[in-house]
Amino acid sequence: MDENKELTRGERLRKDLAYERKNGYDRVEPEELEAMEAYCTGYRQFLDAGKTERECVDRAVALAEAAGFRAYQRGMELKPGDKIYQANRGKALMLAVIGREKLDQGVCIGAAHIDSPRLDLKQNPLYEADELGFFKTHYYGGIRKYQWVTIPLELHGVIVLKNGQSVRVSVGNGEGDPLFTIDDLLPHLASDQSKKPLHEAISGESLNILIGSRPLRDDEGKDRVKISILELLNRKYGMSEEDFISAELCAVPAFPARDVGFDRSLIGAYGHDDRVCAYASLAALLQVTMPRRTAVCMLADKEEIGSEGVSGMQSAAFDAFMADLCAGQNVPLRACYEKSFCLSADVTAAYDPNFAEVYEKRNSAFVNYGMGLCKYTGSRGKSGASDASAEVVAYARRVLDEAGVIWQMAELGKVDQGGGGTVAAYMARRNIDTLDAGVPVLSMHSPFETVGKLDCYMTFKGMKAMYEA
Ligand code: MN
Ligand code: MN
Repeated sequence: MDENKELTRGERLRKDLAYERKNGYDRVEPEELEAMEAYCTGYRQFLDAGKTERECVDRAVALAEAAGFRAYQRGMELKPGDKIYQANRGKALMLAVIGREKLDQGVCIGAAHIDSPRLDLKQNPLYEADELGFFKTHYYGGIRKYQWVTIPLELHGVIVLKNGQSVRVSVGNGEGDPLFTIDDLLPHLASDQSKKPLHEAISGESLNILIGSRPLRDDEGKDRVKISILELLNRKYGMSEEDFISAELCAVPAFPARDVGFDRSLIGAYGHDDRVCAYASLAALLQVTMPRRTAVCMLADKEEIGSEGVSGMQSAAFDAFMADLCAGQNVPLRACYEKSFCLSADVTAAYDPNFAEVYEKRNSAFVNYGMGLCKYTGSRGKSGASDASAEVVAYARRVLDEAGVIWQMAELGKVDQGGGGTVAAYMARRNIDTLDAGVPVLSMHSPFETVGKLDCYMTFKGMKAMYEA
């Protein structure tokens, strides 16, 4: 259309007054697409290196140290521009770039979580049934159980022996490693199972992982497969069966992160929720040099089970870290919190045309429409949501627009269709203005979730803009 052509009244009113959403690919600068690809390559590597919260912490620390961050000790002298991190028990991580202004001006926080739904081993997991070896599991987070059978699984975690020695376990993502799986009925014999509702067809107690089948030779005792597996575990990890009691082992999907689609515009992987926002928050912070206000990145554990526990967002570990930083400047923590701002960076549901009935299209987030801002989450009348104020949303709009970030508003789904929560409520409880924002995801909480590259990159760009605002 000719730019100089005079608009009719209707055209002008529509242009000036109506809110029109546009696909991000019609808005993004072509030269940004290269940066987007490079960013997404780094993100895929982060996913492949971090299948558990512990592995994500390790990877994040390595990236941070390479970017000049150093481990923070209580009482350390800090000056503007200093870059620090502190891990909480190896399962959560806090990082900061000290700002030019004092902490009584507040900090800007990007808070995401690095735990993802998975199958944890029970504390007495190993058994043999009819000459097959299995691990009993207890699922972690909101999974749809039927999605976790007959897929390849890896095993990750730690075994802490009685003497306190911690042994890392990672089986399945190394070259030539064996994998594990959970079996399901063949259709030929599934006539009863097939009549059950989806959530009953596969029970939690049937999610038993197949781990071996070869019996101990020249032996007449019982459980020869199990004993044979114990011998292998003892050789590899120095453990006995009782050591499972103090182990944290989990089975995760054995899919590496891959491009999806002929146009490679999407990424399919396990753990986008919420590593896609965790990586964005982290990668953005690593590029921050001398912000006005101190920039803080929080990578939390335990979000998928309610942010509980010593490594979850409800833990005082975050307050202790912030109080230590404040103490260095003689600023009361409460004075810092009340002027702070937090983007609770967590994924949201992407509108899925295959399941259009659960979405309300006007308020849903779309793939490729950019970072999704979510004023409220919750369920049954916003219950459990922190519900950001209009002022906070206006602030975020302004910062993102000024930085050229492509963003959209997001609501999880239709009213009363379900719902969900994030760490936002726990940040808001600390008297910190908080807004949810993140990447829209297809098939959230499944073993292979899908996101749009443009949305990943815009979330990174949005986090950076927030830290530097
Ligand atoms: Mn999440
Ligand atoms: Mn989740």
